[in-house]
Amino acid sequence: MTNPTNPFEIARDALKQLAARRVAPTPDNYQTAYHEIAGTKPTTKDFPERHLRSLAAALPKGSPDQMRLARQLDEAVKTGDWDAYQTHLSTFIAGLAESQKLSWGELIADVLRQSEAKHTGLTSARKRESLEHVLSASGSNPDNLYTRLQGLLRSWGQGREQEINPVVNGGDAEKTAPSTAPPNNDAPGLLHELRELFAFTLETAIATQLIESPQLAADAKQLANDIRQARKTDELQSFLTRLKRFAFKLELLAEDQGELRKSLLGLLRLLVENIDELVIDDRWLHGQIEVVREIIEKPLSQRTVDDAERRLKEVLFKQCQLKASLLETREAIKQMLAGFVDHLADFADATSDYHDKIEDFAEKISSANDISELETVLGEVMRETRNIQINAQRSRDELLVTQQKVKETEARVSELEKELEKTSDLVRHDQLTGVLNRHGLEDMFTKEAARALRHETALCVALLDIDNFKKLNDSLGHDAGDHALVHLASVCRETLRPQDTIARYGGEEFIILLPDTHLEEATLALTRLQRELTKKFFLHENDKVLITFSAGVTQMRREDDQNSVIKRADEAMYKAKQTGKNRVTQAP
Ligand code: GH3
Ligand code: MG
Ligand code: MG
Repeated sequence: MTNPTNPFEIARDALKQLAARRVAPTPDNYQTAYHEIAGTKPTTKDFPERHLRSLAAALPKGSPDQMRLARQLDEAVKTGDWDAYQTHLSTFIAGLAESQKLSWGELIADVLRQSEAKHTGLTSARKRESLEHVLSASGSNPDNLYTRLQGLLRSWGQGREQEINPVVNGGDAEKTAPSTAPPNNDAPGLLHELRELFAFTLETAIATQLIESPQLAADAKQLANDIRQARKTDELQSFLTRLKRFAFKLELLAEDQGELRKSLLGLLRLLVENIDELVIDDRWLHGQIEVVREIIEKPLSQRTVDDAERRLKEVLFKQCQLKASLLETREAIKQMLAGFVDHLADFADATSDYHDKIEDFAEKISSANDISELETVLGEVMRETRNIQINAQRSRDELLVTQQKVKETEARVSELEKELEKTSDLVRHDQLTGVLNRHGLEDMFTKEAARALRHETALCVALLDIDNFKKLNDSLGHDAGDHALVHLASVCRETLRPQDTIARYGGEEFIILLPDTHLEEATLALTRLQRELTKKFFLHENDKVLITFSAGVTQMRREDDQNSVIKRADEAMYKAKQTGKNRVTQAP
């Protein structure tokens, strides 16, 4: 059966069909039946184009999604596609509802998180106040509330979530894509590249700069690994926290390296400025260079460089003094020799004179006519000979005196050398025990205190005093007392850490500096030292002698100087003595 093409026939058949289907003869039903029979579509004239177009034009176009919707609707109107129009509109509304729902959840979570996080210059009371203000000012308008809450978060310091996950929390909720889409849907390639570059910077650029800080280098590599894998918000959050800590440590390291560089330059300058002083003898120069060479061979740290500087200063001091006295002595020997040579010349003159005279006398003797004449000549000969004898004797005596003087001067030089050796050691080290003396302690305290303040680490100071030392001296003798002091110092050095400083503060009192140590740890270290002393006996003539000490420990405070901190340790030590000795007491 073919469809009728004549409009009259189509109209008649359409009416027939309505009757047969028992459908109400409304204009719409008639139109549908008419097109069905004619095999045509309704004309665009029937499509509510004008209304739909004005509706699409009236929709807001503030975000890419809104603009996309307007374009889609416009397209649907142009092609008269009612189904497409419906689909676009309903998809957009469904997405909007979803996005609103999820964004609120995220926003509230973010508000909670940020209100507890630390922001510079903002107290939590201040944050609560501004939050209350936003809540009361936004009334019942959820859109306003949403926007204002986001503004508040931004003003709290660019919430970290916002920075790293802009699609979820960024900017304006109404402008963002629905968050049902995978995060960062807009530029996944770019984000991947950024992540890789970040990891590369940490792994290659930063870690390789940290050869001397293996722990930090390992941290950098771990962070690089983590950022490559972090996807979820909490993973990113944890990464950020660790990155912050890492950056802080890097900053400290940079400060340390700056200090180190400064010290090194100072050391080098010291050496160069003093080279002139050393050229008197090459061996001295070699000695100086040797010290520096040894230090440079060790892994470089602030402490080794400080040590090198201290040693170099001492050596330079000693050698300057030695040089002066050696020059003086050399000059004295030269003058003595010059005097002796003059004398020898005189003697030689006198001797050659004597020969001439002897010849003269020989002639006189051979031509002498009588005995009296001979007697006169012999008398002259005897006189001259005696003169020459006296001269020779005098020269010999003078030679002996000069010899003696040279010997004495040589002895003085070697004495001087020994004395200077002691003096130079005395500059910073205690002669008996080899630990630092008060002078050396002062230097170290200044350095350690500055370091502790810079790194914000704890520095503890302990003062220890040997118990009943007078009795030990009295019963075993002063020498035994001295050996006991040496023994205590060496047990201290063996037991404490290399970075701890030991100094002899006075007779039988020692100061110990414990960097990077809290009060409890310092107390434990001193107690361990006491225990070690009971194990490592002091031997006197093969007898075991137990040495004990009482100690006071205190932790340096920001406002402390060396005197105030030692005074506190001393008071605590006094308390230890009063409460029975052989104990460690903490300063309150
Ligand atoms: P306390 O337990 O109260 O500290 O009693 P003590 O006997 O240890 O203390 P006191 O201060 O009465 O005596 C300290 C003694 O230490 C007196 C002094 O002769 C002795 N001394 C100080 N320096 C040295 C030294 O270099 N060598 C020796 N052998 N003894 C020293
Ligand atoms: Mg004492
Ligand atoms: Mg004592």
